[in-house]
This record gives sequence, C-alpha cells and structure tokens, in this order.
Amino acid sequence: MAVLSRRDVLGALTSVTASGLGVGSVRAEPAKKSLPRPPPPSKPKPLPLPKPRLIMIDPGHGGRDPGALGVRGTQEKSVVIAVARELQRELLAGGRYRVLLTRSSDSYVALRERVARAQEAKADLFLSLHADSHSDSDVRGASVYTLSEDATDREAAALAARENRADMVVSGVRLGDQSDVVARTLVAMSQRGTVNDSRKFADTIVQTFGKNGVRLLPRTHRQAGFAVLTSPDIPAALVEMGYLSNPQDEKLLTVRQHQQALARALRASVDAHFGAAVATRKA
Ligand code: ZN
Repeated sequence: MAVLSRRDVLGALTSVTASGLGVGSVRAEPAKKSLPRPPPPSKPKPLPLPKPRLIMIDPGHGGRDPGALGVRGTQEKSVVIAVARELQRELLAGGRYRVLLTRSSDSYVALRERVARAQEAKADLFLSLHADSHSDSDVRGASVYTLSEDATDREAAALAARENRADMVVSGVRLGDQSDVVARTLVAMSQRGTVNDSRKFADTIVQTFGKNGVRLLPRTHRQAGFAVLTSPDIPAALVEMGYLSNPQDEKLLTVRQHQQALARALRASVDAHFGAAVATRKA
C-alpha cells in the first residue's frame, strides 16, 4: 500500500497553490472597483490528526443487579466499576484514546442498551468487565470470552431480519435501503470480520495477562453467546477477571493495587490491539 508521508502531501498542496490552481481562482467574484487584495501568503493547512480511537468500557451489572456475590459479600458490580474507572484513567492518560463507560454509576443498564450505546457512539472497541462465580470455591483465575460461531450466525440473522433495521448502518451501508438477502449478507460479513478481530483482541488480553502475572483459568479464551458482545461492527471481548466464589480471588479483586494491575494489563492489550505496543508509556 502506498503511504504518503505528511511532507509529500504538504509539498503537493503547496505546489498546487503556488501554480494558481487554488479554489479561490475558480469562483466568479462580482466585479469590484477597488484593487484586488493580494493573495494571502500561501500557508499549507495542517493535516487533521487521526481521530483518537473510542474505547467503550462496559462494567457489568449495576443497580438492582449486583452480579456475582463473593464469599465475604463482595458484589461483582462494585468490583467491575472500580476496575473500569482505573482502566479509563489509564487509557486517557496516554492521550491516545477517547473513553466512554456504558454505565458510570451504580445503575441498571439492559444488555441490549449497552450494545446500542456503543453502536451509537461508534466505538472502535468494546470491553466488558465481569467477575465470575462457581459452585466449586477452588476454581480461580481470569478468562476472556468472545462471541461463539453459533451465536454470531444467529445474531446476524436476527439483526438483518429485525423490522427496525431501517436506521442501522453496517460497514457504512444503511440496511433499511437493502433487500433482506443483501442486509443479511452485509451483517453476516461484517459480523464475521468483527468476530475475527474480537478473537485477536481476546488472545492479546490472555497473553498480556500471562506476562503480567494475572492468574488464568485453563483454556483462557472461551466462546459463548453473550448478548453484550453482539455489535456487528465493533470488536468486543468480555473479561471475567477472577472468581468471587474463591476467597483468594475475591480478596485480590477488592485490592486497589490488583485492580490497577488489571487495568494496566488491559490498557496494554488495547495498545497492542491497535498496534501501538511499542509506544506504551511507563507508568
Ligand atoms: Zn458478570
């Protein structure tokens, strides 16, 4: 792929202006008696900087839904919002991302509403934070989920068939203007590409967690039909950061240092996902 450097583009812009092909010379101006003002010195416009990526952090549960309960009474909804806020700080500190939370307080937000908020904001990445629970209190460690193949196909069909698809835009195409078949194909294609990206992101999280000493569940990257992962065009992963049913995990998940370590590892995963691992800032 040919990549123009900023200097190439600036050079081209300057030479066009200098040779008198500027936009101003094309427009017909009404005749004026006064002498025409000399053209302003040609100053190439600065190229717009790339828009910072928008990361949508999704702290699970909230409000009347406490999520999993720890052996000592820790509520999942409080742990995940604490890590979400740490991660938000981490991501904003580098100045390279915009960050939104699907909920920023202890409020109940329906799963589909979380997806809708990410779609509406045109998020580049969706990261759902959870803590798990198991009947066996020995089970501990983190795991990362992406949307399963079955769920992906089901969701694509449902999305494409939905009567209110009129306003939905997938890969820049308004689904309302398309036939059923075209809409279904577009959604399925977009969903497939998105799921591939999601899986790469999930693998990156697993690797980063591993490198940073976060205890992992065996078969760390798993697939399931979580409704919150169903955006057709936003790569998404759900992280279960540990088990509240395990006393050690529960303790860790409430310790600020551990919450910060998780947030740092997640920020490094986001950096790596966007190919910026080299530029990570020393905390
Ligand atoms: Zn949960």
